Amino acid sequence: MRELEQLKTWIDESSNIVFFGGAGVSTESGIPDFRSVDGLYNQQYDYPPETIISHSFYRRNPEEFYRFYKNKMLFPEAKPNAAHLALAKLEQQGKLKAVITQNIDGLHQAAGSKEVLELHGSVHRNYCTRCGKFYNLADIMGMDGVPRCECGGIIKPDVVLYEEGLDQGTLQKSVSYIRHADVLIIGGTSLTVYPAAGLIDYYQGSRLVLINKSVTAMDSRADLVVSGKIGEVFSQIVEL
Ligand code: NAD
Repeated sequence: MRELEQLKTWIDESSNIVFFGGAGVSTESGIPDFRSVDGLYNQQYDYPPETIISHSFYRRNPEEFYRFYKNKMLFPEAKPNAAHLALAKLEQQGKLKAVITQNIDGLHQAAGSKEVLELHGSVHRNYCTRCGKFYNLADIMGMDGVPRCECGGIIKPDVVLYEEGLDQGTLQKSVSYIRHADVLIIGGTSLTVYPAAGLIDYYQGSRLVLINKSVTAMDSRADLVVSGKIGEVFSQIVEL
């Protein structure tokens, strides 16, 4: 495929690649995304997922929030796929500067990536809302119902819920990486969730690559569109 060759050439020529990804990066690891046909948003619940994973719902109804969160958003068995591994390898080779992700699953770090900017937080970090004590994912999974700290406070995942703002430091760093990148690869995201999706506007180069298995609203802005599953795409480009 001509597109794959083009992408490979740009990767070979660059030592300042930045990757920006979304839920589609982890679907090949068995974690459903939100908007594909078989994604989370197309399943049936008492409330729409956007409602359940909002800040006000979490405050009003932590029991229901945690029932959904534990059933549908935690995948402790998931393993990194070829896309995560290839990105980690490119960083190791000094070619890729950062992975910016909307994912909360920690799979980039599990693959070995060091500079990972988690715009929406991580399921691996959880804090007591009263005393601030840290809990890991296994701690949360081991507690029935709403997880509570020794002090009695409710434990909240360090995940950005709807209605909550993004961490400004993480956002600033992401903007800076994107602004200075010569190749920006965006993959597995529908680019519909703001403010994260607006990051594309900061890119100033002329090698903007979009990898997605379906069309996105931003395809026309890309210098190269690669259609396909991102794990399969990367496994053809980077030797693992
Ligand atoms: P999205 O669900 O809106 O979009 C996913 C996109 O990935 C779609 O455009 C789809 O066509 C594409 N896609 C799916 N599988 C793919 C594959 N194998 N290869 C290439 N493309 C593929 O996800 P989003 O844009 O990340 O935004 C939704 C929000 O959902 C984010 O804020 C994120 O925090 C959250 N989320 C995270 C996870 C996770 O951590 N793994 C999972 C679901 C949702």
